[in-house]
Amino acid sequence: MIQKVRGFQDIYGENAKKYRYIVETVRNIFNLYSFQEIILPYVEDISLFKRSVGEETDIVQKEMYTFKDRGGRDLALRPEGTASCVRAYIEEKMYAQGSYHKLFYEGAMFRYERPQAGRYRQFHQIGAEIFGVSSVYADAELIQMVDKIVKTLNIQARLEINTLGDFNSRKLYSQALRDYFSQYKDKLCETCLKRLDTNPLRILDCKVESCKEISKEAPVITDYISKESKDRFNELLDILSKLGVNYRVNPGLVRGLDYYTETVFEFITDKIGAQGTVAAGGRYDNLVEQLGGPPTPALGFAAGIERLMLLISQLEKKDILITIIPINSDYILKGLELSKFLRDSEIKSEFMLKTGSLKSMMKTADKFRTDFVIFVSDKLELKDMKSGEQLIFYSEEDLIDHIKGEKAV
Ligand code: ATP
Ligand code: MG
Repeated sequence: MIQKVRGFQDIYGENAKKYRYIVETVRNIFNLYSFQEIILPYVEDISLFKRSVGEETDIVQKEMYTFKDRGGRDLALRPEGTASCVRAYIEEKMYAQGSYHKLFYEGAMFRYERPQAGRYRQFHQIGAEIFGVSSVYADAELIQMVDKIVKTLNIQARLEINTLGDFNSRKLYSQALRDYFSQYKDKLCETCLKRLDTNPLRILDCKVESCKEISKEAPVITDYISKESKDRFNELLDILSKLGVNYRVNPGLVRGLDYYTETVFEFITDKIGAQGTVAAGGRYDNLVEQLGGPPTPALGFAAGIERLMLLISQLEKKDILITIIPINSDYILKGLELSKFLRDSEIKSEFMLKTGSLKSMMKTADKFRTDFVIFVSDKLELKDMKSGEQLIFYSEEDLIDHIKGEKAV
């Protein structure tokens, strides 16, 4: 038997419903905040991720699905959405329209990680980006929107927030980290030894236990950021409080991607083990320019749909189901015609495709958790499966009028 590829999933049944419910809910909130959708390609030039996510990050170092196409191009399945959004923003010259842009996207991402609960090799994100606004109110609006998403989905997650300061502060901080970690060269993992030269900030994000241990005593960024960044951060915290968003400042939060500046944040839950970050994001004021666009402040976030799925409880059954059962083979066509009539009247119905004895068809209907059955013969008999009540109709119109009336009640 051919099996699905390790780390890949079939999402079906109740899980597919949860998936769609989450996407619908989040899209609805994006719409309320006036974000516009962008449907991005799944494949990009490898260099896009090297230059944005960063050469020394886990994603680029060991998690990307890369391949050469028949034309010899070096390509990657996208591991995240922000880089593609920025590429599109520049390539489609959105900046030329002046003003600012608010975009959202949704879909599959690919990372070659060790599969476990809440961590897959193909997973799905839904995220949003704001281009062209430096105001701290944009940070506040974005974070408040994610808070609303979490609350609307009824998920228990806390907001952790930090500032990485501006470019200069990060340079100072990087040097401080380099000095600190240099004392522990013999204890750092191989990757972190490399990071010591190239990007010591990444050591703080290392998942190796010994590196995590050393990181605990490392200098904290708060001591290295400029007064402007500090003031900006405090203003953001103040606005969030006024908007009713609860947060916890975590000076150790640096995020696993290189492009962040100033604000970074994560929504974290304790309910699904180590894979607790359900949504994450921050500001990336240098990235657009770094990828060849005009200097453009920007920020965004992404939520992991599978992790949200693990956290939402059983969905309530929303719509009623009516199953149409021809009592014998003489009435199959009449039954199918009735189904068409119901559907044309916007009434959901299941036409019993599995023919057999009445008893076996009722069993099948039961498996669909049907609310009503319509037995089709010379008459139409509507049976309420809960109360057992039965009503007889002689015309399709009368039946539909009745169903519509019931629905209205
Ligand atoms: P983590 O620290 O859990 O690896 P990350 O920092 O790599 O997360 P981001 O790149 O910021 O995550 O992605 C945003 C969100 O996408 C995460 O918070 C998480 O919910 C989800 N996500 C990331 N990687 C995976 C994965 N392999 N499987 C499922 N969801 C994922
Ligand atoms: Mg990761």
